[in-house]
Amino acid sequence: LGKRGGRNDFKFYTLGMNETNRTRIIIENLLHQALKKKEIYLVYQPIMELKTEKVIGAEALLRWNNPQLGQVSPDQFIPIAEETGLINQLGAWVISQACQEVVQWKAQGTPISVAVNLSPRQFRDSKLLKIITDAIAVNGITNHDLELEITEKLLLEDSPGSQGILSQLHQMNFPLSIDDFGTGYSALSYLIKFPFNRLKIDRSFITDMTHSQKAMGLVKTIIAMSHGLNLQVIAEGVETSEQLNSLKSQGCDYAQGYFFSRPLTGEEFRYYLQLNKNPPS
Ligand code: C2E
Ligand code: MG
Ligand code: MG
Ligand code: MG
Repeated sequence: LGKRGGRNDFKFYTLGMNETNRTRIIIENLLHQALKKKEIYLVYQPIMELKTEKVIGAEALLRWNNPQLGQVSPDQFIPIAEETGLINQLGAWVISQACQEVVQWKAQGTPISVAVNLSPRQFRDSKLLKIITDAIAVNGITNHDLELEITEKLLLEDSPGSQGILSQLHQMNFPLSIDDFGTGYSALSYLIKFPFNRLKIDRSFITDMTHSQKAMGLVKTIIAMSHGLNLQVIAEGVETSEQLNSLKSQGCDYAQGYFFSRPLTGEEFRYYLQLNKNPPS
């Protein structure tokens, strides 16, 4: 590892450290430079409306391609970014980049919204609201064009600060989704306490539903419960037509997954939108 100029947060690994810690420190050090070196980019996965089978939005997902490490999975680098606080910088970049993409989708006549993932740590940054509203204003889009996905981890923190920001975002008409529903420490009271518009059923339940009666029952129940709470439902990780048909018959509103498309680069996704463009009516 080389020394980076002008920064004092560089970490060295020592002989006593185990492999996991060493890998971690290497990732952390390389991640510090990743944005500047343009190793970070976003991919977009279409979100389909099941009634019409039309693309109504896309989820923006972070990707990191490092010359030394290769492609690093977000499940590996996002927890590190969260712990080190780098997620605030990365997250701001994601918001800005995603909003710029919305402008391009509008310009080519395929106007859809974008969904970004927000980490709990970003809610502890007093600048979050300004980062979001600036990105909207600079790009001339509307609050409705930017959906915000958060996981149950945020709700668990139960800090008045996060709650305040969440309700402000809601009042400003940003669509709010609860992500990976069912995997965390979901207390159902969260669904009443926090102002969500959408609930995303975690992929694990969708994966199991066509071969497990219990998983199927759970998915059905989550859909009914969501509708009872006036929440729209998105199924994550739909990979087969069996899953899709079953979700349709249960009245699920939206779905995303490899059955429709893997996450695509910005350029690929723009092309995908054009291919799926509705003929002018
Ligand atoms: P997530 O927000 O729940 O995103 C869905 C994940 O499921 C994505 O993984 C996506 O590529 C994957 N996926 C979608 N459809 C399928 C499918 O049909 N089958 C399978 N096996 N997987 C599918 P990815 O891109 O690896 O992201 C993992 C997680 O990293 C995300 O889960 C999210 O929690 C986090 N993440 C990604 N980008 C960001 C970001 O910009 N900010 C934050 N805070 N977290 C992010
Ligand atoms: Mg998500
Ligand atoms: Mg999810
Ligand atoms: Mg996830």
